[in-house]
Amino acid sequence: EVKSSEKNGYRFFSAIASEELLRQVKLENDLRCALIKQEFAIYYQPLVEMSTGRIRGVEALLRWTHSELGAISPAEFIPLAEQTGVIVDLGEWVLEEACRQVKSWQRAGRPDLTLAVNISIRQFKSDGFASKVLQIVENTDFNPELLELEVTESMMQNMHESIVILDELKRQGVKISIDDFGTGYSSLSVLRQLPVDTLKIDRSFTKELMTESSAASIVKLIIDIGHNLNLKIICEGIEKPQEIGILREYGCEIGQGYYYYRPSPSEEIGLLLHSARPV
Ligand code: C2E
Ligand code: MG
Ligand code: MG
Ligand code: MG
Repeated sequence: EVKSSEKNGYRFFSAIASEELLRQVKLENDLRCALIKQEFAIYYQPLVEMSTGRIRGVEALLRWTHSELGAISPAEFIPLAEQTGVIVDLGEWVLEEACRQVKSWQRAGRPDLTLAVNISIRQFKSDGFASKVLQIVENTDFNPELLELEVTESMMQNMHESIVILDELKRQGVKISIDDFGTGYSSLSVLRQLPVDTLKIDRSFTKELMTESSAASIVKLIIDIGHNLNLKIICEGIEKPQEIGILREYGCEIGQGYYYYRPSPSEEIGLLLHSARPV
């Protein structure tokens, strides 16, 4: 009978929906004390100079191990932290912690090692964001020229406001990267007006580099335009050696991906930085 099965279908759907909602509410709540409970850790993923295989820098990637639920992906908890505003304190913690860690690697024999840190939109728009960053840089004695803040295209929608913030950071030497480039809405001409240094080509393009000629054309186009605008290009999500061949031919400088190195805890990265042979 149609009516009851519809009813069942509806009930079934709503049971899943409310289960998901419950998990969300729980995670949102637990996020508030997770910092104090020291449930967060920062993993680091090397950024590799494609022509030499040398590690040029690292990207800080946040990890949350929930006391009951185990590892929670940033793809799940970052949006929740963003919604509740917890991201402002959390992002500050990541920046300070990562600056301290990378500073110690710089002191231990890698003076040029760069640090990339992801910035969320709520954090970027929070009061005094730029001065907070500069204060952390000063407190940790970090060379601002070696710090790259990763923002996304969607954060640049209110162009004027964003440029004011970016300029304040850039005056002190901090570098700006556009993360996941190619997936947002901004036109390439916006790049001309934004004070950015680096484009990170989104891994959805890298994934199809070998199989979709359209993806390859887009990657080549982004690299060419980026170079014309004096931007450095990083390609994310490199998993196969053949991808490196194509990207090198296109002139991409820096690569990041599981083929080179996975994100790893600081202890492992510390050892790697001492011993790594170029890939
Ligand atoms: P993202 O900034 O684009 O970071 C790259 C993501 O791709 C990371 O996922 C990394 O582990 C993953 N990845 C790297 N190489 C490969 C590869 O070869 N193949 C595949 N399939 N994936 C690869 P992760 O760590 O899960 O982070 C997801 C996103 O969460 C990040 O994307 C970033 O937007 C956000 N995120 C992570 N940490 C932070 C943080 O401290 N603050 C903020 N605001 N966002 C963060
Ligand atoms: Mg990133
Ligand atoms: Mg990102
Ligand atoms: Mg990305």
